[in-house]
Amino acid sequence: MPSEQQLRADIVEIGRRLYARGYTASNDGNISVRLDDRRLLMTPKNVCKGFMDPAMMCITDLEGRKLAGERDPSSEMQMHLEVYRQRADVQAVVHAHPPIATGFAVAGIPLDRAVLAEVVTTLGSVPIAEYATPSTKELPEAVRQYVKVHDGILLANHGALTLGADLYSAYFKMETIEHFAKISLVARMLGGERLLSRDEVFRLQGLRGMYGIASPAPICPDPAQAEPADCQVVQAPVSAAGQRLVPESIRERRRSDGADQEIRLTYRELTALIEDAVRNLK
Ligand SMILES: [Zn+2]
Repeated sequence: MPSEQQLRADIVEIGRRLYARGYTASNDGNISVRLDDRRLLMTPKNVCKGFMDPAMMCITDLEGRKLAGERDPSSEMQMHLEVYRQRADVQAVVHAHPPIATGFAVAGIPLDRAVLAEVVTTLGSVPIAEYATPSTKELPEAVRQYVKVHDGILLANHGALTLGADLYSAYFKMETIEHFAKISLVARMLGGERLLSRDEVFRLQGLRGMYGIASPAPICPDPAQAEPADCQVVQAPVSAAGQRLVPESIRERRRSDGADQEIRLTYRELTALIEDAVRNLK
């Protein structure tokens, strides 16, 4: 375990990076880490994360009582406490408002499609916790059902939350979420993602052990019968033809199952159909 002095310095450095990358504006965001089994080190309320110094941090217990520090702890302390209560394996928590990922959270679009191998192996899926008023007890309640099986969560109309085995691991997950959101946005602007097939997703999940990647939960075997309490829902289509990449358009066509399929006609074909119908009327 790094020393308290090192952890204070790491929080300052991560705050600087969050601000420099535009993941936070003004005084947004907060960072915390376990000091031992009963104390947390946390960023204080009302400071810009880009300009902190190590002496600014607060120490609290796991009930949120301040034990040391001149300033008050983060206004989102309750959300951090909820994570530590639910996840004994988590040592650090980062909350920020990275703009592209937050755009997905505002649009109500979860980052749960199987698109990039490194995201499938590390984060799995990134769901959206229901909207809750920031800095109230609604927020820990909204994230409660997701923190057990996810290391990255979008907060509806607010931002993102990441958890890690140390400070840098939680911070890098925030980078991964924003990078994933950027790539997903560009792919959708270019006509839509090609998704990794279900078989490929499970092949990637099998690599977690080989690379020593700890994931809080497995990917649900069947997203339609998902039990969100113990597995992650990842959108990955079954590919009957054994393709590893499945274009979304094919998926959408299959989903509509012929009922509302689009029919394209040339102008001449449409005119002929109308003329035919008019002739039949006479
Ligand atoms: Zn926030």
